[in-house]
Amino acid sequence: MVYALLSSPRSLPGSVLLSVTFGEPLRFSAPEIATLLLALLASAGLFLWRFAPILRKIIRSKKDVDFSLHPLGRRVWEFFWEVLCQAKVIKQRPAPGVAHAFVFWGFLAFALVSVNHFAVGLGIGFLSPGSVFGRLYFSFVAAWAALVAISIAGLFIRRFLVRPIWLGKKVSYESGFIAFLIFLLMVSFLGAFFATDGGIAVKTLWWTHTLALLIFLPLIPHTKHLHLVLSPLTIFLKRNGFSKIPPLSGDEDFGLVAGKDVTQLVSLQAYSCVECGRCTEHCPASNTGKVLNPKEIILGMRSYLKEFGPAAKTPLLNEARDTVANTSPDNPADNYFSMEAAFECTTCGACEFQCPVGIQHLPIIIGLRRGATNTGVWEDTYGTKLFLALEKNGNALGLSASERDKFIQKQAFPIFDGSQEYCLWLGCMGGYDPKGREIIADFARVMQYLGTTFGVLKKEKCTGDPARRLGNDLVFQTLAEAGLKAFETAKVQKIVAICPHCVRTIATDWREYGIAPEIEHHSEFMARHKARLPKQPTDDSIVYHDPCYLGRYQDIYDEPREIVSLAGTLVEAPRSHERSFCCGAGGGLVFLGEESGERVSHVRAAELAATGATTVGTACPFCNTMFRDALSAVSSTNGVAAPQLLDIAQLTARALPPIPPPTTVN
Ligand code: SF4
Ligand code: SF4
Repeated sequence: MVYALLSSPRSLPGSVLLSVTFGEPLRFSAPEIATLLLALLASAGLFLWRFAPILRKIIRSKKDVDFSLHPLGRRVWEFFWEVLCQAKVIKQRPAPGVAHAFVFWGFLAFALVSVNHFAVGLGIGFLSPGSVFGRLYFSFVAAWAALVAISIAGLFIRRFLVRPIWLGKKVSYESGFIAFLIFLLMVSFLGAFFATDGGIAVKTLWWTHTLALLIFLPLIPHTKHLHLVLSPLTIFLKRNGFSKIPPLSGDEDFGLVAGKDVTQLVSLQAYSCVECGRCTEHCPASNTGKVLNPKEIILGMRSYLKEFGPAAKTPLLNEARDTVANTSPDNPADNYFSMEAAFECTTCGACEFQCPVGIQHLPIIIGLRRGATNTGVWEDTYGTKLFLALEKNGNALGLSASERDKFIQKQAFPIFDGSQEYCLWLGCMGGYDPKGREIIADFARVMQYLGTTFGVLKKEKCTGDPARRLGNDLVFQTLAEAGLKAFETAKVQKIVAICPHCVRTIATDWREYGIAPEIEHHSEFMARHKARLPKQPTDDSIVYHDPCYLGRYQDIYDEPREIVSLAGTLVEAPRSHERSFCCGAGGGLVFLGEESGERVSHVRAAELAATGATTVGTACPFCNTMFRDALSAVSSTNGVAAPQLLDIAQLTARALPPIPPPTTVN
């Protein structure tokens, strides 16, 4: 066997690697070429044999009725940013993220070298390691090989020895073996720089590298490394919009009931999960001892597809399966893929926000809820009471509409008649809940102080947010259509609301039935007018809690902080901005019964109180209601006074001079 000790300049300036040449076999015997060809065919064939059923399952899944490549520019940008730059992976977990990015970039750098590697074996190599370009390129790849080897070793140690809790208890030996193969690939490549003497060493390294590659390939489809193939596509194709709930495709579509309802995007996402556990690490339900584990929801979907396929009629959720004859005795999805888990979700969106491979948990979790609620499988006393209240009274608190009328009269709020600039949306909390009413009253004072004209709707019904998130499409549709009609009749042009859930639902979820007038959150309104709002000379330190539906859902982080900063010294909670920890109210859970495990609101309230701030600032009436009891409970446990709890409207209004309320009511 002959190896090249190429004679081109050995001392190019720069790195040590530039001064040595990559050792490459110059000739292969006919049996060697035949063996290589057979091995190549076997590896590629095995890969396809294992990958084809997965691809078939994805393709044969139901089409996504709302899928569109529009806007293409955003997709291209996200592909560049999240896939090529690995920005999300690095941002969310910097150390392992950088290690992962090195492995990914290293793979890209290796692409040409790997193709050339096999070409050399077949006698058609096109990249000469001895040429100036070859020296530069092989040295460049060698630097990456070193980085990849170090990174993969670090990731291996983290996954198999350190074992952070959110990676789960299951150990995937196949994944460990793949990590070893990647390490071997790098080491065998680097070794070839130091074995250029034409001996057996170079050939051995060449074959080691070859075999590692050929064994690696067919292992991909059945391990988490399948994300290498699928995740670029998943990120590029993911549904447009955060927590976007897709429309139902017709009268026979009730949500995710069985395999036949699983769409192509859901299948693709289920097979793309890299099992990193980022979703679980940030999930308030998982962090407070509940069954729900978003990673296991995705893996549960994958297990289901593996076991039953996309056309199956077997119910997806465990509890639903017990009610039908075709219950599988070998249920592949354990308790995690259950109705109990699905209905523990606060829809906070932390999972979807964190996922580095574009998996969108909320359409799946809410899809499962839709399947259970729309078909009557979900039976919950509180849920039933809530849906009845929404249907009968038009508000989630189940109070008579006359209660809202009395409040409007007491506050002397004008009725919107088209002459005012804004329609002030009260929402269920602002119209019926005592604390919510205080927030609305104070926000109305702020508007009056600023001289902004506003009116409220004579009749207003819930936006349908809790029905939407709990999967009751009929109730949601009725409320959305009624709301759209009310705005149209009153000729409303602009809406302002204190509740981010209302803002999100009106602006985004109602789109399925029509376009609502422009709506903004009161934090946006006040921030826009901040130059005219008083700066308060106070020692108050205020810790601001980012509501999930304002931050992650609408990317509004700065505006409420600008308002808080006018009222005191802004304090940041340990988990803030896009990493904010939920209050536990979302997804309709505020209206359901007791939580299992620790209460999410108590965990968050303790975290906020521990900052030592004198006030907790909120920007959502649901957060406010959750923290009311939670802060008292935390304070009685710790024996210290609870911080006061104020919405940003209340923080602003406390500095305003008394304003006489308008005397006329339309
Ligand atoms: S939306 Fe929030 S509560 Fe629901 S699974 Fe995701 S992280 Fe957990
Ligand atoms: S769903 Fe996403 S964040 Fe969660 S484990 Fe899978 S890849 Fe990681």
